[in-house]
Amino acid sequence: MSDQINPFESLQQQIDEAAASLVIDADVIERLKHPQRVLETNLTVERDDGSLDVVQAFRAQFNGDRGPYKGGIRYHPGVTRDEVKALAGWMTYKCAVVDVPYGGGKGGVVVNPREYSERELERLTRAFAVELRPFIGEDRDIPAPDVNTGQREMNWIKDTYETLENTTAPGVITGKAIDSGGSAGRAEATGRSVMLAAREVFTWLDRDLADATVAVQGYGNAGATAARLIEEFGASVVAVSDSSGAIYDPDGLATDAVVEHKQETGAVDGFGDTQSLSNDELLTLDVDLVIPAALENAINEELAHDVAADVIVEAANGPTTPAADRVLADRDVRVVPDILANAGGVTVSYFEWVQNRQRFSWTEQRVNEELERVIVEAFEGLIERYESTEASTLRTAAYVVAIERVADAYTQGGTWP
Ligand code: NAD
Repeated sequence: MSDQINPFESLQQQIDEAAASLVIDADVIERLKHPQRVLETNLTVERDDGSLDVVQAFRAQFNGDRGPYKGGIRYHPGVTRDEVKALAGWMTYKCAVVDVPYGGGKGGVVVNPREYSERELERLTRAFAVELRPFIGEDRDIPAPDVNTGQREMNWIKDTYETLENTTAPGVITGKAIDSGGSAGRAEATGRSVMLAAREVFTWLDRDLADATVAVQGYGNAGATAARLIEEFGASVVAVSDSSGAIYDPDGLATDAVVEHKQETGAVDGFGDTQSLSNDELLTLDVDLVIPAALENAINEELAHDVAADVIVEAANGPTTPAADRVLADRDVRVVPDILANAGGVTVSYFEWVQNRQRFSWTEQRVNEELERVIVEAFEGLIERYESTEASTLRTAAYVVAIERVADAYTQGGTWP
């Protein structure tokens, strides 16, 4: 967890801000500000030299009123219980804003995966899967990838679960490799929805994304894919970064070549004839669009004063603090919120789960077309709310839509016991 701002407090402030524009009982809003449960476990992992590590791990189940809990698992040394709770809450409202029939959940393991061999990571992942087994299931809670996890970890969790349950249940987890029951289009789904959200917001502002200059913070799954698809759309990606720093070329970067460079050297830094920048310099570059695609709290109050772009599309979860949001709103910087912009990941996870349940695979074209429909409809619904209510930002409008849906499902279910 970066910076000093507690992401769970950020989530609760975002909910309170939206609640001010909603006619919903205060006690219902209070229920929707807390997770239903959090599993905290300490995993025993055998290192390759035979020694044992104790590794802390969490799974938060935030809200299940609209469907099974759903959300990724993150491996990062900065993971905290409150971060996982916040990420689980954001998942709840993300699923609601794109109207996918899931609740929200999230998992986190306090580990630096770079310090582990592949065999050690497999033992760690299977140990977590054993702890998760009573809590997850195709109709109960469905994990997925997040920072530092991907198809490999999802395949291990599926295998552990299926072996222990003595069944096949590919829908217990999403983000799997295609041959293990994954969906076409899943790997690039988050980046694709970021591109679609950027295209839609530029159109709404009577501008053309193809004419834009773009800076992307975080060159992983979400950021690198968003950069490539935005470049394919015709925009110029002039700066990208990872935890090692940022690179800048005012004439535009060849995004695929940067991926190759990062694969070879482990960092974007040092690519071609580019200028090196810090991550803060990247976020305040004079470009048309900034895409934060790394971790929470990248744009804080102080930095928000220096943001030169007039549009931000959030690929990361929680990259803008509530105080920064207020500064950006005062400065007329439009922020397309994470819960809509990066919802492509969970939307195609939902398609993967549907295909797993039906034992029937869709083509990549069908996946991409359905994803585009979901994101465009959600964006249009958000704009309609933004223009017809008192919501001061696109984020608040998104929460207004999402909280209303979750609150409706919660109250329709009644209170029991
Ligand atoms: P990833 O591990 O593939 O990539 C993360 C990237 O961010 C890496 O390049 C890393 O070097 C970089 N990074 C880390 N700390 C940084 C820092 N301080 N400054 C600059 N760069 C930094 O992870 P990902 O899956 O792409 O996830 C990135 C963000 O997108 C997270 O907030 C995640 O929750 C969110 N997200 C991911 C998905 C998905 O499907 N992968 C879906 C929705 C949201």
